[in-house]
Amino acid sequence: MSQQSKFSEMTRRHFMHGAAAGLLAGGAMTQLASAQTAPAEGRKVGYALVGLGNLTVRQILPALKDTKLSKAVALVSGDPEKARRLASEFGVDPTRGIYNYENYDSIADNPAVDVIYIALPNGMHAEYTVRGAKAGKHILCEKPMANTVAECRQMIDACNAAKKKLMIGYRLRYEPINTAAIQMVRDKVMGMPRMITAEAGFYLGAPDPKNLPWRLNKKLAGGGALLDIGIYALNATRYLSGEEPIEVNATSYTPPNDPRFAEVEDAIVWQLKFPSGILANCATSYSAGQNRFRVVGRDGFIESEPFLSYSNLQLHKVIRGKQERVDLPQVNHFAAEFEHMSECVLQDKEPLTPGEEGLKDLKVIEAIYEAIETKKTVKLS
Ligand code: NDP
Repeated sequence: MSQQSKFSEMTRRHFMHGAAAGLLAGGAMTQLASAQTAPAEGRKVGYALVGLGNLTVRQILPALKDTKLSKAVALVSGDPEKARRLASEFGVDPTRGIYNYENYDSIADNPAVDVIYIALPNGMHAEYTVRGAKAGKHILCEKPMANTVAECRQMIDACNAAKKKLMIGYRLRYEPINTAAIQMVRDKVMGMPRMITAEAGFYLGAPDPKNLPWRLNKKLAGGGALLDIGIYALNATRYLSGEEPIEVNATSYTPPNDPRFAEVEDAIVWQLKFPSGILANCATSYSAGQNRFRVVGRDGFIESEPFLSYSNLQLHKVIRGKQERVDLPQVNHFAAEFEHMSECVLQDKEPLTPGEEGLKDLKVIEAIYEAIETKKTVKLS
């Protein structure tokens, strides 16, 4: 089998499995019945979607229409009119399925809700995760997991205490290109991996000064480009290397007098050292489009650009001078991510990207800010 068909096969198997193809057939029914947290047989896993912003409305609700195991059954919003309109458009019960931020905790009494999906500003993730776990529901929380390491720990503790699952929405772990890239590094197609570069940024438009978007508000966003989009570059260095960094260096630049940056930073570059000796060079910005990674070894490199867009991701390898495009199916990242969470609930399994994964990113993010502040290398144990 060629390398490429090996990747295709690996990815096909992973995604057939991830999408839980055939889960409801035959012997899987026995597993479903025995899983402690399993919804009734044959029923889809029910999701309450918290925060009806861009991501939920443009990506999640449409993606859920095409899933086998997952279904939106409740909406939580500060805008009842929007919630009613979306409920009617996406088949959510308007009498039992609409909540606001005040009566959110009463989701505890709604047996149709198995999982709460949190797509609120970053600074609200911890509160709504803790309240959701106390309401007895599993949690799927958007990245970044929270603003701080301390908040991540509270979220993990709350879900553990309630014996509920906690997954972080790292959608790239559920799509073929990034999954294949990880396998290529594990297979050392470029020889021993030595250097990783990863860059993630976009241009964030000038805000209305009277209505500052939450992404530019320190309390709601936790930071600037690093927490919002740079986290994809950081997470990529961790999943590609398969290691946790031991040293961090960083520097930043924020244009003075730019109305976007009264509270949060613009650009950061940072370097990581991993235990095996892999070095990573990373960048993020709210002023420039960046969307790629490269892993280099003695024999060549693999490169993905774009690696984090919602579709049309690309992967190339250049090994001993021979360039090859890695052709893989494109999938809806959000559908694959929700199906993974549903499969974990149905089969009582640990998610691929649990709370601990979000916590690990936040530990490095705090070290990056410390390195900028102190202008010194920060060591991580
Ligand atoms: P939006 O600003 O579009 O939506 C956020 C929603 O949160 C609002 O529409 C509102 O919903 C609700 N909300 C509650 N309180 C506030 C508040 N004080 N200020 C602003 N909004 C509030 O953000 P996104 O949908 O782009 O992002 C949401 C989360 O998803 C973030 O954590 C972000 O990092 C993450 N994200 C992840 C992506 C991915 O690819 N995985 C892509 C984009 C974002 P309502 O009106 O219903 O109350």
